Amino acid sequence: MKRLLMLAAAVAAFTVQAQSFPGSKPITIVVPFSAGGPTDRVARDLAEALRKPLGGATVVVDNAAGAGGSIGANKVAKASPDGHTLLLHHIGMATMPTLVRNLPFKVETDFEYLGMVNDVPMTLIGKPGLPANNYKELAAWINENKNKVNLGNAGIGAASHLCGLMFQNALKIDMTTVPYKGTGPAMTDLLGGQIDLLCDQTTNTSGQIEAKKVKAYAVTTAKRLSTPALKDLPTLQESGLKGFEVTIWHGLYAPKGTPADVVAKLNTALKAALKDADFVKKQEGLGAVVVTDKRMESAEHKKFVADEIAKWSPVLKAAGVYAD
Ligand code: ASP
Repeated sequence: MKRLLMLAAAVAAFTVQAQSFPGSKPITIVVPFSAGGPTDRVARDLAEALRKPLGGATVVVDNAAGAGGSIGANKVAKASPDGHTLLLHHIGMATMPTLVRNLPFKVETDFEYLGMVNDVPMTLIGKPGLPANNYKELAAWINENKNKVNLGNAGIGAASHLCGLMFQNALKIDMTTVPYKGTGPAMTDLLGGQIDLLCDQTTNTSGQIEAKKVKAYAVTTAKRLSTPALKDLPTLQESGLKGFEVTIWHGLYAPKGTPADVVAKLNTALKAALKDADFVKKQEGLGAVVVTDKRMESAEHKKFVADEIAKWSPVLKAAGVYAD
């Protein structure tokens, strides 16, 4: 009898939790990079789009930046699994397991996968006044200056790090890399001329390119983009870097152990947010493509990340760059 009563109490508690989620506590989306950068931009637009499908809940963004995105990811891996602390992260979820030797969490097993959000092209940009007006001139300038060229990134594991690594490998030139806690501050330094080059997501660069505040050389996708501000940029492939292709994707995660019905509610809310016309318009304006395919589903999101880990692991091992 006592056992039965305990079981009934546990079932009741579980049901109350599911019915009351999200409750009155705000939902926090942890961004593992600085405020004002490309992932932060996606997170803030997403937070707004999630509010309605989550019944008017307060959704806030917390920037837990540093160590190429692993500090913020670890914060969420260790957070209470109640659906109130979420992680918005990008391709770093697939590169960190190879790049960071002592990663304090496991990408595959420490998270619930809530669905993917978007795919974002990258752009190769230079400081204002850099004496190269197109990719050909840039390649010649880099060749003259070699390791004196300063290339910013957001730390080992960041998208800008991955792109920079691919770029240096393709040119067979080691540049001086300058790590930041996000490409928001890297962009500030590029605009100020403290660094020369940056490969960064269009969610951070399209406005600066459109305003002609930076020099823009190429996109990292296989095809040119249709976004008005970016449509004239050549691809790195057509500029001569054979096979160069990288697109940054974002996904939403909760700590492992978040109740299945809370995960389902978050997934349903995410899918509604991805159809929110205002969200889609804002993302498209920044060159990002909102996910509409099966990667919106938790299981497909998890499968996609596993495939990306397998895809990038040999590339990164060959590059031989690791962080502790
Ligand atoms: N996504 C990072 C940021 O928001 C930049 C990066 O990964 O390169 O700053």
